[in-house]
Amino acid sequence: MGIAAETQPEEKASSEVIAVGKRWTLNDFDIGKPLGRGKFGHVYLAREKESNHIVALKVLFKSQLKQSQVEHQLRREVEIQSHLRHPNILRLYGYFYDQKRVYLILEYAAKGELYKELQKCTYFSERRAATYVASLARALIYCHGKHVIHRDIKPENLLVGAQGELKIADFGWSVHTFSRRQTMCGTLDYLPPEMVESLEHDANVDIWGLGVLCYEFLYGVPPFEAKELSDTYRRIMQVDLKFPTKPIVSSAAKDLISQMLVKDSSQRLPLHKLLEHPWIVQNAEPSGIYKG
Ligand code: AMP
Repeated sequence: MGIAAETQPEEKASSEVIAVGKRWTLNDFDIGKPLGRGKFGHVYLAREKESNHIVALKVLFKSQLKQSQVEHQLRREVEIQSHLRHPNILRLYGYFYDQKRVYLILEYAAKGELYKELQKCTYFSERRAATYVASLARALIYCHGKHVIHRDIKPENLLVGAQGELKIADFGWSVHTFSRRQTMCGTLDYLPPEMVESLEHDANVDIWGLGVLCYEFLYGVPPFEAKELSDTYRRIMQVDLKFPTKPIVSSAAKDLISQMLVKDSSQRLPLHKLLEHPWIVQNAEPSGIYKG
């Protein structure tokens, strides 16, 4: 079939069931039911034959990737996601391709998309929202520690694992900030203020994103929603944050959201402080798993 394969040069951890560092082909998998359809292809349930491990195989059509000029973005997404190891980040075990398609071997998230859950219940309980927000804060702290900024935290990018644990699934808009080497070599001295600023402040975009998400979990709609795009833009710029009277949300939750949705990015509540906020401490399940 002429399938070329690329692998991740990572060592296989003892907990890993899928061999990392292997040259994959389609023959390594039994393909099962379709799990969903995305913009660029389809996702199937699949079983890796050697380990019997269940995965999600995402099949992307090269022609569509080319047409939309997202090959570069996909490459970056694969590069970043394949190196992340966190219980709340969807694993990317590897990838391979043939003439027409690119295949991503992904961790299977048995409970599917979070936004469907949110649509089903309109809004989440404080316990559920706090558990999710704490999980995401931990995942983002991990990412930021690796100089990765997600930049696109929203319900559509979140999947739910078999135990009810949240998984960040889409790194399409994420970026690698300066490498450790550059930072440690002191090249910072030569950067203009705006770049130094963005270096220091960039990761804080994820705090804002998490604040928006927290609001949406509790109210069922994002905070700056408006009919016209220009109105949303204005509301964001003015941080026009309003808390409706219904559903009833505790003042502790509103306090947390207000501390995250701050215009000056340096004044946003740091993620490790978020984990100590009374609303999180009192509501989030310590296991990070919301069972309902
Ligand atoms: P995407 O192309 O990433 O938007 O994926 C299309 C759909 O496939 C999603 O909306 C999910 O319903 C499903 N899906 C994608 N990845 C997974 C996964 N790792 N586990 C379970 N379902 C998935």
